[in-house]
Amino acid sequence: MAGARQGEAAAVRQPVVEARRIVVKVGSSSLTTAAGGLDADRVDALVDVLAKCRAGGAKEVVLVSSGAIAAGLAPLGLRRRPKDLARQQAAASVGQGLLVARYTASFARYGVRVGQVLLTGDDTSRRAHHRNASRTLDKLLAMGALPVVNENDTVATDEIRFGDNDRLAALVAHLVHADLLVLLSDVDGVYDGDPSRPGTSRIAQVRGPADLAGVEIGSAGKAGVGTGGMATKVEAARIAAAAGIPVVLTSAVHAADALSGGDTGTYFHPTGKRSADRLLWLQHASTPQGSLTLDDGAVRAVVEDRRSLLPAGIAAVEGEFTAGDPVELRDGRGRAVARGLVNFDAKEIPRLIGRSTRELARELGPAYEREVVHRDGLVVLEP
Ligand code: GLU
Repeated sequence: MAGARQGEAAAVRQPVVEARRIVVKVGSSSLTTAAGGLDADRVDALVDVLAKCRAGGAKEVVLVSSGAIAAGLAPLGLRRRPKDLARQQAAASVGQGLLVARYTASFARYGVRVGQVLLTGDDTSRRAHHRNASRTLDKLLAMGALPVVNENDTVATDEIRFGDNDRLAALVAHLVHADLLVLLSDVDGVYDGDPSRPGTSRIAQVRGPADLAGVEIGSAGKAGVGTGGMATKVEAARIAAAAGIPVVLTSAVHAADALSGGDTGTYFHPTGKRSADRLLWLQHASTPQGSLTLDDGAVRAVVEDRRSLLPAGIAAVEGEFTAGDPVELRDGRGRAVARGLVNFDAKEIPRLIGRSTRELARELGPAYEREVVHRDGLVVLEP
């Protein structure tokens, strides 16, 4: 069944109206001029909406903003977005300062302070990073400041390659326990076909994955300055909805309407329960850097008993990962059963395979008396 089409559901979206803590994500293409630089008028227009939304103190807003690369192009003499990652990162480095300076000046018109927060997806999963990021964001909000989040492009490139901060925004919404995620771009919602063709209509609400079955979702962004496209927005909306957070996906020009619960864009109802689970990134948005094949006993221990993975239960290792990376845990038939943050480099694992931790500690030192994947850094995948 397809989701409710345009016109069917004009009622005010109550969870949107009632949301107190809101994460708003804006894409590069909604902040830039046709030539590619930052468009001060468009930044101001967004800031006007966000400042009004939080006026009176009833609502808190976290802004996840792209646009660093776009803002850094002209100052570095680049005429278009470079293809190589290193120059994109350099542009992001120059542009990030300009982007935040622009927001600082624009929010100052309302007496609102902004705080820059640079994060990577895995910062939302690693215990100490998660705790620090969450504490900083909470404190900024408590002190009345507005956090402006972007991917830390110097050390991570997930969203530069394919994402334009869409998934990061879903993870941030989860991290701050947001009541609502609003994804703003240059497209005004999910359509049941190519929006430029007659007879195509906007899907006003999505109650679950079945509502989008059969809908072809385009992958390329229109303006060419961002990397997201509709596919990563829908993916981000699904991640947030599965974590119990409602999502509105619409264009930046409809931001005010979207934030006041109007029938704009596509509304994703929450599909899962809210939880404080730190491992959302690991489960939904990480790219495994390798895999460990488990023997049957270890599969049972990990999947059924939710225990840590010990060296004795490993049968094989594949890939080139370093300690701390996400890896896939597979059963003997090659089926992925779990994902976890691994505690050893790939090259260390062959000599640990099949051995007891006590034996390893005696032979190699106490650093080896530890789990290969600790259960606190492990998620079991749905079969
Ligand atoms: N962090 C990047 C930026 O702000 C992500 C967006 C992109 O890929 O253009 O520019």
